[in-house]
Formats: sequence, C-alpha cells, structure tokens
Amino acid sequence: MTAEKLEPWQWPEAQWRAIVEHVRAGRSLRPAQWPNGARCAVALSFDSDHETNELRDGGESIGKLSQGQYGNRQGVPRILDLLARHDVKASFFVPAVVALLYPDEQRRVIAEGHEIGIHGWIHERNSTLPREAERELQMRSADTLERVAGVRPVGIRTPSWDFSPHTLSITRDMGLLYDSSLMADVDCYELLLDGERTGVVELPVEWIRDDAVYFNMNRFAGLRPYTPPSDVFDIFKREFDGAYRDGGLFQLTMHPHISGYRSRIWILDELIRYIRGHERVWFATHRDVVEHARAHAA
Ligand SMILES: [Zn+2]
Repeated sequence: MTAEKLEPWQWPEAQWRAIVEHVRAGRSLRPAQWPNGARCAVALSFDSDHETNELRDGGESIGKLSQGQYGNRQGVPRILDLLARHDVKASFFVPAVVALLYPDEQRRVIAEGHEIGIHGWIHERNSTLPREAERELQMRSADTLERVAGVRPVGIRTPSWDFSPHTLSITRDMGLLYDSSLMADVDCYELLLDGERTGVVELPVEWIRDDAVYFNMNRFAGLRPYTPPSDVFDIFKREFDGAYRDGGLFQLTMHPHISGYRSRIWILDELIRYIRGHERVWFATHRDVVEHARAHAA
C-alpha cells in the first residue's frame, strides 16, 4: 500500500519546516562601510538572454529570434556605449549559447572592464531538470564562458531566477563566490543549505528592479507592457533613493533586448545621471560588491 499523499494543510511541522529551511538567508553581509567612504553601492546588471528566451522552450519563431538578435546588434552596443560615457562598470549574465553565438560581444564586455557571470546553458529552467543535468550544464556553462571571454566566472544568476533544490549545492561545489537570483533581503547575505553555512554569498535581486516585468509582451496572449517608461524610471529611482538613505545596496537588472530601445534606453542614462548627482556613491560589478561585503561584514 502506498502512503497517501498529504495536502499542505495536513503536513506535519517537520515537513513544512524542511521545505522552508532547505535554502535560506543566513548572516547579513551588509558591510559596515563601502570603499573610499562611499555611502551607497550601485550594482547594475544586464542579462544578455538574446535568442535563448525562445530557444529554451524549444521555440523556433523567426520573429522572436530576430528580437533576440536585436539584443546583440543594438541592445548591448547601446548599453556599453552608455556605460563607457558614464565610466560605470557593470555585470553581464550570459547564457553559454549566447556566448557561442556572439563571442565578440563577450570579448568587448570584458575588454571594457565589465564582469561576465553564468546565466545557464540555453536559459533552461533549473527546477525542471534532473540533478545531474543541472550540474553538468552549470559546469559546461562556466567552462564555455571562460573559453569565449577569457575569464572564469565567479558568480551565477539562474535563468529566470529559477532555483532548483539542487542549485545551491552545485554552486557551492563549483566554488563560486556568489549567486544573484534570490530575494530575501536588500543587502548581501550568506546562503544556508539545510541550516549549514555554504560560504556562497547572495547578492539579492527583485522583480521590482527588473525591466522585463514592466516591458514584456506576448503577441498571442494578453501580456502587454502596461507601465510607461517614465513610471519605470520612477520606481528604479525610488529604489535607489531608499538604498542611499539606508547606506545600502542598489541592485538593478535590465535586458539588452528589452531596454536597448530608443524610447527606453534613456531610463538607464537618466538613472546614472541622477545617481551621479549624489555624493559618495560606489558603482561596482556584482563581483566587487560581493568581495567587499564578504570582507567587511558588520
Ligand atoms: Zn535571463
């Protein structure tokens, strides 16, 4: 006789507790101070998904693939030019398939002083994968990025921030410095696995600070962009204002194939200009923020 499957409201305490405690925020790594007396850290990131948003679901839509190609032809160059103009270093999270499609793009990103981090093989959903497949893809992705860009990645952002029950142990076993896919805080924190310290630092994200949430559309479903670019700017600005007031971290996620348009790229331009209007702000890559947070936790 097989055990009857319990409904969540029937679960014993040990069961719901184990689920909640599997991957958890531990010690805060909010630093006592930022480098050079800075009051606030700003970590900008760009997820160069390009064609993999279509490929990862097995799609072959030529139209959607062309939107992905826009990310390489227009999105990334616009963003890199803008970052160079403001002398800001940022982090790019790149699926390995994108790195193989566009090796020159990755070499330019590295040559201009930015960071490249792991973002899956083909933007796969980790929580749908068998453990061994997830492990093999994550290791192959790191190797591929290193081969293409010439620098070994030290951080991962899981595609779609989809985190499987195995992701953290794989990340820890690979010796990665940080993950940037979870949302338990506004400051960096240490990740616990079943209550044990992993040494892996989380640099937290939030959908609030992600352009895709506001701008995604799907021609064949009801999904449309409903937030005007000026409102998106306002949300990001207020997130920064709070981080500056708290003396904390402002982290942002954008996508070249979503924000790299004439009517939207100004958000990034204006935001950097606004932030630069404040005294003592430290713009840094995710790697630099994590290294500092780990070394100077209060
Ligand atoms: Zn992505």
